[in-house]
Amino acid sequence: MVTKITKETVGSIKNEGLKQDALRYVNMYGEFIKAVEESGVKVHDSEDRAQNAALLEKLEKAGAEVRNNGKSVVLNAISPSCEDCRTGFGSSTYILTLACNRDCFFCTNKNQMDYEGGQHRVNDVISGFKNDLKRYKEMKSAALTGGEPLLYPDKCAEFIKKVKKTSKNVQTRIYTNGDLATPEILMQLKDAGLDEIRFGLKPDESGTVDGKILDIMREAVKYIPRVMVEMPVFPGTLEKMKELMLTLDEMGIFGVNILEFLYPWVHPEEYSKHGHEVAHRPYEILFNYTYAGGLPVSGSETECLELLLFCAEKKVKMGVHYCSLENKLTSQIYHHNFNLRLTGTEVFSEKDFFIKTAKGYGQDIEWIKEKLDEAGCDHYIFNNSSKFIEFSPELVPLLKERDMELALTYQAVDFDEEGNKVLREVQIDMINPKTFRPEDI
Ligand code: SF4
Repeated sequence: MVTKITKETVGSIKNEGLKQDALRYVNMYGEFIKAVEESGVKVHDSEDRAQNAALLEKLEKAGAEVRNNGKSVVLNAISPSCEDCRTGFGSSTYILTLACNRDCFFCTNKNQMDYEGGQHRVNDVISGFKNDLKRYKEMKSAALTGGEPLLYPDKCAEFIKKVKKTSKNVQTRIYTNGDLATPEILMQLKDAGLDEIRFGLKPDESGTVDGKILDIMREAVKYIPRVMVEMPVFPGTLEKMKELMLTLDEMGIFGVNILEFLYPWVHPEEYSKHGHEVAHRPYEILFNYTYAGGLPVSGSETECLELLLFCAEKKVKMGVHYCSLENKLTSQIYHHNFNLRLTGTEVFSEKDFFIKTAKGYGQDIEWIKEKLDEAGCDHYIFNNSSKFIEFSPELVPLLKERDMELALTYQAVDFDEEGNKVLREVQIDMINPKTFRPEDI
């Protein structure tokens, strides 16, 4: 068992060394939340964690596959491109242009660097693909996104042809809002070799979707091997979303990715107007994430999981995948950490891809050192001026006879001010050898 150390739980820590160490991160998180509020939105005052954990349990019983620590849930089927996305290796998404025929208030592109410039540019996506071919041993998946890529259908078709000419095995996909898709364009994309089209459905605040987009999706099913939907779930729209899921299932599409609704640090007034608040703890672990999507809105994850449970109970045939913000952040951590040469005190977590260590403090230090010495483990960091002893979390079971509070650290490769790579501790949580299990790492 791992106990999350937050501003709510830090006060109950008895070990003063651990408490002082943990307070650094609690205070940093407090500063981050202050910055979120200063941007103009409210942050929700409590967590939905217990409610979501109960829903995950029900989903597992109903036959869904709970992945990535509950941050991704799959019912029936998942797109091969989503499979490749977890580590991000051999999988790239290229922005053709940031220009779009719509202007959604929740558009996460507005959080992209150089959004203004990007709206007036059409990027050389073929060169981007060629560079990635050199970077990855095996290219598995290539996608075009925007803005709205179908503003330039010929360029989309040219890109897909180029990818397929390189290797027929690379999965190709396009993200679109569907407004500009016509049967002719769909045919052109099919002939170019498109494997998957993802319609970003944008329900209005009541959860209603434009019927014209559903019509063009019915057309797309005739031409494109995999037709998918990506849609955020706005809190308060669950009943409408349920109806929509049944309609989508009848259409014979491959699947739906239901997404956590995000706040991309823009248009706070729109979020406040609709009563949307940022989730109590927007990131599990605070880090310098580059994903431009923004922060999760409170209540969206719960409604996503309830919607998935409804689909399981109704035995829909299409694939349904819940993809949370945390699920999207995973691949960045993987990229930072996967090939780090580890010391004897560090472990690469297969669960969330952070590098982890254990730490003991104060009166426990000497006892831990003795136990590790007795077991012949000499990989620990300790000197007489240390306020802690640091060792591999895999050794925690050696200490199980003693009831004590230890830290489980989370570390990630980052860059210092001079641009050099450094391994940075970014969070600590609390573990106790009496309740610790190897799968907690
Ligand atoms: S349709 Fe998509 S890309 Fe266009 S403004 Fe809306 S969210 Fe942004």
